Amino acid sequence: MNIGIDFDGTIPNTQKWRQQYLLKKHSILVMEAYRLTKEELVPKIGKKAYAEMVTAYDRSSVLCNIPPHPGAVDAIQELAKDNRLYLITARTPDEIGRAAEYLETFDLRKHFTELHSTLDKPATCAALRVDTLIDDRRTHLRKQDVCFVPHMPDELFADDVSHMNAWEHAPKYVGGKHATD
Ligand SMILES: [Mg+2]
Repeated sequence: MNIGIDFDGTIPNTQKWRQQYLLKKHSILVMEAYRLTKEELVPKIGKKAYAEMVTAYDRSSVLCNIPPHPGAVDAIQELAKDNRLYLITARTPDEIGRAAEYLETFDLRKHFTELHSTLDKPATCAALRVDTLIDDRRTHLRKQDVCFVPHMPDELFADDVSHMNAWEHAPKYVGGKHATD
């Protein structure tokens, strides 16, 4: 199978970094990782502060010190054994270098066949014949893709999108065996 994997928020645990940043910089405590999305945060802190937060972590010195989500390294290693993995990110060609550096830092680069920068993930997935995309944002997901929302309780997910709330469940999604438990 060909599996697509998003970068920001899907591999590095940027949700945890955002929690700490918001507390320190804005004195806002957001307990739930799934409430750290653009849609939730812009009304709270404004567009400008949101943009500042996004650019604040995208420096090698910061990004490469954000650990991957628990279980991500093992799951990616496991998936890479029998599948072709593509990194599919909305990062610009300029920004993708930092993602590559991050993958090297955590010894993950070797598991990815190619890294792709795209603003149209469904089109890129179709062109690469990606069977399943794992992504922490559901807006551009197709029916066969998987939304990764760390720690989100099952009952809060909408039924129309397959989801996983921890990387350890990822191998279950391969081959269309979407987790039901
Ligand atoms: Mg993402």
